[in-house]
Amino acid sequence: MQIGIVGLGLIGGSLGLDLRSQGHTVLGVSRRPRTCEIAVARGAVDTAETDVSLLSDTDVIFICTPIAQIVPTVQQLIPHLTPSTVLTDVGSVKAAIVNEIAPLWSNFVGGHPMAGTADSGIEAAVHGLLVGNPYVLTPTNTTPEAAIARVELLLRPLQVKLFHCEPEDHDRAVAAISHLPVMVSASLIATCLDESDSRVLKLAEALASSGFRDTSRVGGGNPELGLMMAQYNKPEVLRSLLSYRKHLDNIIDLIEQERWTELKAVFSRTQAGRSDFL
Ligand code: NAP
Repeated sequence: MQIGIVGLGLIGGSLGLDLRSQGHTVLGVSRRPRTCEIAVARGAVDTAETDVSLLSDTDVIFICTPIAQIVPTVQQLIPHLTPSTVLTDVGSVKAAIVNEIAPLWSNFVGGHPMAGTADSGIEAAVHGLLVGNPYVLTPTNTTPEAAIARVELLLRPLQVKLFHCEPEDHDRAVAAISHLPVMVSASLIATCLDESDSRVLKLAEALASSGFRDTSRVGGGNPELGLMMAQYNKPEVLRSLLSYRKHLDNIIDLIEQERWTELKAVFSRTQAGRSDFL
C-alpha cells in the first residue's frame, strides 16, 4: 500500500521503519526539513517533505504528531485527500480526538499503540517498537468496516495485539495504567530532586539502579506528552490521581500508626493483583 505518516518522531518514525520493512511505500511529512532528511536517511520513509500535499495519493495516513496538532493536521490534509483515503491517529487520548475528527472525515479510525521509550524525535525511532504490545482501535458506530479492516491489515503483520474499545473506555483505562504512572513517576523524580543535603543527593544519584530506572522511566520522558495527557484527558487523569492520593494517604496512616499487619495486607493485595495487568 501507499502509506502516509505525518509527524516523524518516535512513533511515526518507528511505524515507518516497520511498514517499509513489510514492503509498503511510506511517504512522510514533518514540520522541520531536517527531520524529513533524517527520516529518509534512517530508512523510516521513502521520501519526506514539510507539505501535506505530498500525501494526496495515499491509501492510509497515520497522524503521529503531538496530540494538540492531530486535529489541525486533519484539517490541513482534507483538501488534498480523495474520499477513499483512511485516516488514523496514534494519540494517547481518544475521546477528544475522535469526537472532533469523526464529523470531519468519515474514513477515520482512532488508534493508540501502547508502546514507547523515554526518548523522542526521529533519532529515537526504532524497528519493532510495537511488537508484542497492545494496539487499541477506537471505532465508533459510524466508522466504516472497510476502513477498520484496512488499518488492521497494515497492523497485524507488525505483530501487535489488536483491541477495539469505545474512546471513553480507552481514556478511563489508560488514565489508570498509562497517564497516572507518568504523574506518579514525575512526582517520584521531583521528590528525589528535593533532597536538600547535597551530600545525600550525590549519594542517591550514585546509588540509583534498576528500581529507580523502572519507576522513573515514564516520568523522565518527553514533557509534552505528560502535559497533553493531563490537558486532553483531564477528568480521567484527575479521577485516577484522587484515587491514588487516597491509597497514598492510607499507607501514610498505616505507617504513622504502626499498623504493620494492615500495611502488609496492602502489599499482599498489590503483589497478587499486579500480574492481572502484565
Ligand atoms: P515525538 O517523538 O515528539 O514525535 C512527534 C513529531 O511530530 C516530532 O518529532 C515533530 O517533528 C513532528 N511534528 C510536530 N508538530 C508537527 C506538525 N504540526 N506537523 C507535522 N509534524 C509535526 O512524539 P511521539 O512520542 O512520537 O508522540 C507522537 C504521538 O504519539 C502523540 O500524539 C502521542 O500521544 C502518541 N504516542 C506516544 C507514545 C510515547 O510513549 N511516546 C506512545 C503512544 C502514542 P519535527 O518538528 O522535528 O518535524
